[in-house]
Amino acid sequence: MATAGQGETGLEAARAELRRLFGFDDFRGVQPQVLARVLAGQSTLAVMPTGAGKSLTYQLPATMLPGTCVVVSPLIALMHDQLRAARANGIEAATLTSVDSDWRETIDRFRAGALDLLYVAPERASQPGFRDLLGSAPLALFAVDEAHCVSEWGHDFRPDYRQLRGLMDAFPQVPRLALTATADAHTRADILDQLGIPRDGLVLAGFDRPNIRYAMRHRDNPVRQIAALMAEEPGPGIVYAPTRRKVEDLAGKLALATGRPVRPYHAGLESGVRADNQAAFVASEDMVIVATVAFGMGIDKPDVRFVAHAGIPKSIEGYYQETGRAGRDGDPARAVMFWGAGDFATARQRLAEIDEARRAGERARLDALAGLVETAGCRRAVLLRHFGEDPPPACGNCDNCLAPPRVTDATETARKLLSAVYRTGQSFGFGHLQKVLTGVEDERVRQRGHDGLSVFGIVAGEEARLLQPLARALQARGALVATEHGGLALGGDARAILKGEQAVEIVVPPRAERRRRRDASPNPVGDPLFDALRDLRRELAQEAQVPPYVVFHDATLREMAASRPETMDQLGAIAGVGAKKLEAYGARFLDAIRRH
Ligand code: ADP
Ligand code: ZN
Repeated sequence: MATAGQGETGLEAARAELRRLFGFDDFRGVQPQVLARVLAGQSTLAVMPTGAGKSLTYQLPATMLPGTCVVVSPLIALMHDQLRAARANGIEAATLTSVDSDWRETIDRFRAGALDLLYVAPERASQPGFRDLLGSAPLALFAVDEAHCVSEWGHDFRPDYRQLRGLMDAFPQVPRLALTATADAHTRADILDQLGIPRDGLVLAGFDRPNIRYAMRHRDNPVRQIAALMAEEPGPGIVYAPTRRKVEDLAGKLALATGRPVRPYHAGLESGVRADNQAAFVASEDMVIVATVAFGMGIDKPDVRFVAHAGIPKSIEGYYQETGRAGRDGDPARAVMFWGAGDFATARQRLAEIDEARRAGERARLDALAGLVETAGCRRAVLLRHFGEDPPPACGNCDNCLAPPRVTDATETARKLLSAVYRTGQSFGFGHLQKVLTGVEDERVRQRGHDGLSVFGIVAGEEARLLQPLARALQARGALVATEHGGLALGGDARAILKGEQAVEIVVPPRAERRRRRDASPNPVGDPLFDALRDLRRELAQEAQVPPYVVFHDATLREMAASRPETMDQLGAIAGVGAKKLEAYGARFLDAIRRH
């Protein structure tokens, strides 16, 4: 009880600090639960989705509690992003990394108790000199970011994270806050153990990212399809492509087709070029980066407006993580997957090459992904159920909810198609099978004697139009698999379908869905004041050498343009305008508002 009471008073104070530092009116989601625990000195593991506002849960206590908050973060780039954002809000912060040249000054400030936040890499933890340093001044909190790195069950195991326990145990009175966006039940339990956080210290937010609109479409012309998406979304975007070659190819073609700045990113690029492209993307308000999955970890850009996949991701987990990079600022964002039947066929073919112990697990991942792609129901519901949640059946913000597709029973046609595959020897591609089934006699059909088969010409009219989507669906579910030479063979439950023991339903996208749906960005179009505020933001960002979103987010500029504050007090009441930013930028924004 005593603790809860303490938490409550702590929360009141934290709310005032939230207002002063960040200019936000209230907490979001599980932020209050996490903060109440941290302020009461209780160790905590917070699992919150991307964009839910994890950094606030240690930045606020860092400024409120006596002593310094030590933040462990796995990537230098990530630390420097965080450092910039914290400083822009007037938080006393520093990083202690191999690329910093201000070590002396940082150590002096720490010893003098002048630092709210000290960012370090996990490698530091095992250095005795660092432990001594931490012992030389009061500590407020240990914050361990990307805490899933401590677990071998997680997807990014970093052995150095295992050293943190020893370091933190040396300061038993200092509370611990572990943070991650992705951890299943198994990984969560492991993190608690590894970092010495009690079981009841887990605070779990839902996985939902309500501002992301999910859509999945068949890929027929990726350049045209992604260029169309870019035309609808003028803001920054990420396009994931499966190989380096495809990354280069798509980046070149999209730049030509759209005239937008487009850059490639993959592990084959020279590291200087890679770092350059990433930095340019982070600073840009309209760049599109085409990348392999090598891109993303450590990208903290809040204003990414879309994430497109030009091929299927590895798993639902991968998909969630990659699409999660869209819309961290809470504004509407899109996740669009352009998938091909061949993606699944190839992935299933690869299953045969991996060792048997892992095969069943990999197949289950692929089946789950196929279920998401092939569903006629709500995409978000499938995603959230995959993560163990119990979501409502429709979200209203995915392609299937917005324009429900038609579901057709295609069992009979599937039996015809599969039997054509079987009778032609399981080695021909879809084009040939289509000719046989619809009775088209060409050279190859005659040569092979396929015009004499019982399946020749047994599909006509409306049914013939089902063949293509059906072949895609059968490949996605694994009833058709690719052969080495690009043909199709029977797999999965093909035999059960042929015997009539298994039904096949396919999803036919509605015509309405194919019509370009213009997604209204919340930003006003053609408002001279809003445009002027954006120009001013760009100018200030350049002066300070920071990305524009570090100055203010779009939502803050929108509110300025709509409410036209005339005084510093009015400006300071706008969400996102904290005391430090008001002092630094207030006069110039008021001036711009007066003149427009
Ligand atoms: P995460 O690390 O969980 O992905 P961040 O800490 O980067 O998320 O926060 C995401 C965005 O949400 C940031 O732009 C942050 O300023 C904003 N934000 C966080 N908490 C709040 C809040 N209580 N009210 C309004 N905006 C918030
Ligand atoms: Zn939905």
